[in-house]
Amino acid sequence: MAGKVFSLTPVQVPRVETAYRRIVTPLPVPESLPVLERLREVESRSMQGQPPLVWHKAQGVQVHDCWGNMWLDFSSGVLVTNVGHARTRVIEAIVRTAQKPHLHHYCFPSEERVALAAKLVELAPPPLKKVFLLTTGAETTECAFKLARTYGQSLARRKIDFVTFRGSFHGRTLGSQMIGGNPALQSWIPHCDPNIHVVPFPGDFRSPDPSFEAFDRALAAAGVEPANVCGVISETFQGAGANFMPVPYARALRQWCTRHRALLVWDEIQAGFGRTGTLWGFEHYGDAVPDLMCLGKGISGGLPLSAVVGRPDVMDLYGPGEMTSTHTGNPICAAAALASIELLLAEDLPRRARELGEVLQPELRRIQRKHPTVGHADGRGLVGALQMVVPGTTQPHHPLAHRIVELCFQRGLLLFAPVGLGGGALKICPPLCIHEDQLREGLQVLEEALAEAAAAPLPGS
Ligand code: PLP
Repeated sequence: MAGKVFSLTPVQVPRVETAYRRIVTPLPVPESLPVLERLREVESRSMQGQPPLVWHKAQGVQVHDCWGNMWLDFSSGVLVTNVGHARTRVIEAIVRTAQKPHLHHYCFPSEERVALAAKLVELAPPPLKKVFLLTTGAETTECAFKLARTYGQSLARRKIDFVTFRGSFHGRTLGSQMIGGNPALQSWIPHCDPNIHVVPFPGDFRSPDPSFEAFDRALAAAGVEPANVCGVISETFQGAGANFMPVPYARALRQWCTRHRALLVWDEIQAGFGRTGTLWGFEHYGDAVPDLMCLGKGISGGLPLSAVVGRPDVMDLYGPGEMTSTHTGNPICAAAALASIELLLAEDLPRRARELGEVLQPELRRIQRKHPTVGHADGRGLVGALQMVVPGTTQPHHPLAHRIVELCFQRGLLLFAPVGLGGGALKICPPLCIHEDQLREGLQVLEEALAEAAAAPLPGS
């Protein structure tokens, strides 16, 4: 489903002036229209989904335009700037590397790449002791899929079945969309891989069977022989709604994969690097350590870098030159990622996310209880989501969610456009360096916007 587009007609909005937010112009800013309109002319329509704000700079937990407006950021871009926007330590690492000068190295060795790869291996639990650096999240999930298939076929010719979860998102390239659990995103693919199987996600409020028997049942119904499964992939929490699996389910899944020699892949692209209050999201699942994990987003503080980290026997399935990428571990991105990870650890931001989760999560649930348009609230640490629904149903309410994002934008609170099934989910994911009073102020703005949107007829509806 294509999302609504935010209007480019400036409207007068009340002036906002707090320590963390400042809105002093109509929005969108009339002077910004040439940039916004030119972008709509020269970029694909797919890029038009976000609130019409021309970013000038972003620092810590705030985003600024160049007309004096300042937004408190509940987006982290898209869960990327976990350490905060433009932290000095990250900038210094980028500048130092650029000034060496060292901009590119392909797959030739470099100090930057070894330092980052060694840090990831040090932080990952056994048996995840080898790394392959890439650029985007979708590349890592494609790579994990390829490794699982290759691994399966190394054991038995027919061990090619791959399992994914309904509602999951793993990227927008061909392979990553085929292993995603949203059929609407696959409508352009005439022949989806018949050996990819989708099973219900146990943490979704719309299909609440949380038992692991549902997994077995779904595979049996699809005629899948467990011995032929080469891998199972899941987001550690399902991104759109910030839904976690029940712990017993995740542990049973780990045991099932071990029993059937299938690789368990956690897509940690949103959950990794402290977002949920632990360094890795799967730590919430006890001993359900994966065979491969996919990392991206929060890894680098802002630069394009991603990684697959996994079992050495799997990561070494391909020989020299057979699994590479032009920009693998680009030195500037690698230096930025290392600096960002060191900062995350030095400031113990996973702990801060855990502590502030004690504020965010109860608040989201309180908001849900108070507002019948919120069908469900979920999350952990500093990620949460409110699922906007048509009251009395579980049907996603995209126009309402979209209007709430717009009202927040007009009040100096930045959320990205609603996501998830039917575009009904509002995602709350500030940089992990946010302070409690900033978080509370943002939540108050969100609730005001929610109340106003629910009370008024929606524009154009
Ligand atoms: N996996 C998850 C869970 C994601 O949230 C995303 C992006 O939103 C991806 C994979 C794809 O990452 P990228 O957009 O960097 O390709």
